[in-house]
Amino acid sequence: MKYKRIKKTTSDHLPLNNPLQPENSHETDEWAFATRAIRTGCIRSGEGEHSEALYLTSSYVYDSAAQAQAVFAGDEPGNVYSRYTNPSVILFEQRMAALEGGEAGCATSSGMAAILGTCMALLQSGDHVICSRSVFGTTVTIFAKYLARLGIETSFVDLTDYRQWREAIRPETKMLFLETPSNPLGDIADIQALAALAHNFGALLVVDNCFCTPALQQPLTLGADIVVHSATKYIDGQGRCLGGIAVGREEQINELQLWQRAAGACISPFNAWVFNKGLETLSLRMEAHCRGTVELAEWLQGQSVIEKVHYPGLQDHPGHELALRQQQGFGGVLSFQVKGGREQAWKVIDQVKFISRTANLGDTRSTITHPATTTHCRLSEEDKDRTGITENLIRIAVGLENIEDIKKDLDKGLSSIKC
Ligand SMILES: *Cc1c(COP(=O)(O)O)cnc(C)c1O
Repeated sequence: MKYKRIKKTTSDHLPLNNPLQPENSHETDEWAFATRAIRTGCIRSGEGEHSEALYLTSSYVYDSAAQAQAVFAGDEPGNVYSRYTNPSVILFEQRMAALEGGEAGCATSSGMAAILGTCMALLQSGDHVICSRSVFGTTVTIFAKYLARLGIETSFVDLTDYRQWREAIRPETKMLFLETPSNPLGDIADIQALAALAHNFGALLVVDNCFCTPALQQPLTLGADIVVHSATKYIDGQGRCLGGIAVGREEQINELQLWQRAAGACISPFNAWVFNKGLETLSLRMEAHCRGTVELAEWLQGQSVIEKVHYPGLQDHPGHELALRQQQGFGGVLSFQVKGGREQAWKVIDQVKFISRTANLGDTRSTITHPATTTHCRLSEEDKDRTGITENLIRIAVGLENIEDIKKDLDKGLSSIKC
């Protein structure tokens, strides 16, 4: 096999702090979401490839000692080491920033690393955080255990109760953190109102946008300061890789980049490349996830063994109006309560044939889980009551299989508890 020698390294076009290129961001402003998801960011190896190359390299070489000095000093754009920058990772960061409407992004090894890194970069001992009670379980662990040890205290409040957020504010409050829609009940927080509250008191609003992705909700355009993601879910979309990212203004994201370079919680270039491919189909996939979930929610409502269906796309959901206002779709996750208790719920889960019994979501494959004994098993009985995690509750993340097949599979479970 003969390969052409590449004279110009791509590092010529890659500034260390990875701001969007001026022409690039101009084009990006005019492009609709689907175009940005496919076309934002440009890296060329010189081989004329159409699909972006994958840069599996830990380090980079220089033409001269002087060039190395200039790159290390930041006087000349270029890569130093893949813990700092890597072309495949920069592309992911630029594309996500364009999709979320942020100035910059910082990719991380997982969603949790994005959340921890954001806190480590922006908080210090003595600071106070207000966090929704209905966030990802491990996020609670970060705040309640690890940040608490460093002298950063967190108050937990009910996601949709504005008064609790307001009353929890202290002079030292530096960050409000939430996830909307919530898992698994789909409660919706008013991002605009909570951003205004945070800013009135000099705090930042951080939103975990994992369930909606920027295809359905752009928290930064509603006033949030930072968006964090587990890219492991819908951004990959096929359940292959772990990764995370935070997007926001350069002022904060540069701090996170510096923490990341020191801490080494960096994403594998391979995973970033997979996510770049995932983003190209994100809007199509999210549209299909939403369509299937609306249909399944309505079908479930008509089943005699169902007590209640929780999905913000349903008119009787308390967050329906707000979701209509701040989201462009209702998402791919719903939950429902069956008549009975744990025994009936488990029976339904055990009877399905192809729907995967797993707590994961954001995949082409539909998944089914019992929140009270899996995703939310560490909550106290009191917190389960408070957040509506009842024993008869089942969560489904609707995948991209044919929706009639999903209904038929689920019907096997539902029929098994009919009297
Ligand atoms: C999965 C998940 C996370 C954690 O992400 P990892 O990539 O697993 O580290 C954080 N927030 C939400 C909402 C999630 O679903």
